[in-house]
Amino acid sequence: MVEIKTPEQIAKMREAGLVVAAIHEATRKAAVPGATTRDLDEAARKVIAEHGATSNFLGYGGFPATICTSVNEVVVHGIPDEKTVLKDGDLISIDCGAIVDGWHGDAAYTAFVGEGHSPELIELSRVTEESMWAGIAAMKPGGRLVDVSRAIEAYIRRQPRPGGGKYGIVQDYGGHGIGSAMHMEPHVLNYVERRRGRGPKLVPGLCLAIEPMVSLGTPRTRVLEDEWTVVTTDGTWSSHWEHSIALTESGPFVLTSPDGGAAKLAELGVAVAPDPLG
Ligand code: MG
Ligand code: MG
Repeated sequence: MVEIKTPEQIAKMREAGLVVAAIHEATRKAAVPGATTRDLDEAARKVIAEHGATSNFLGYGGFPATICTSVNEVVVHGIPDEKTVLKDGDLISIDCGAIVDGWHGDAAYTAFVGEGHSPELIELSRVTEESMWAGIAAMKPGGRLVDVSRAIEAYIRRQPRPGGGKYGIVQDYGGHGIGSAMHMEPHVLNYVERRRGRGPKLVPGLCLAIEPMVSLGTPRTRVLEDEWTVVTTDGTWSSHWEHSIALTESGPFVLTSPDGGAAKLAELGVAVAPDPLG
């Protein structure tokens, strides 16, 4: 069953989304050479407390932290700790979430730590982020879920890689419905799988977390012994971007972006819906 939200519920999700955006801002500032991933977790914890929100990551299936910090070959679900010290040239994906009055927000971004990143890494993060926006722009009333998956995959496949080769579109993880829980139906593939059909209809009130994960090599992953950390099987580095989006009568609204996605969607010729908070 796909949960369809009322405008009032979407407004609550916007509040949660703005907390997530504030966590992004705080962790972005904190992700500097010499910082530990634990430092980033503390920055996130502080923002959640300041907003009177609660964490949807802490305690989720026993997860021991407020954010996921995934460095270099770690794709997703990295656990912040004191041992992981960020250094120049690292690529970190930071996944954040918050709950306001029972309604969830979830969003991730990839950041460059310090300096010294190759054009290939810079392009990896750009392609991953832009594929997410292509997926968001495909969220149109009357469409089908497969439109989102197709837009993400097609964008990535069209991009030439500096140095040649193909990008790996991670297959073991994907996006999801979001609302009164963080992870809900439907699962959102980042590629088209014919046997899954076209998926549910995109209708006003549907809220999705769209989150492509892309590597410089294999699409395959494995989980480390801590039972959380997901790495590429070939050790290539990866990027992860995510936003939570509400579909309304007048199109998509990006709940976890301060401007609702207006600037990026305008580039793609899509008008953003009005802010649910007015
Ligand atoms: Mg997330
Ligand atoms: Mg998510």
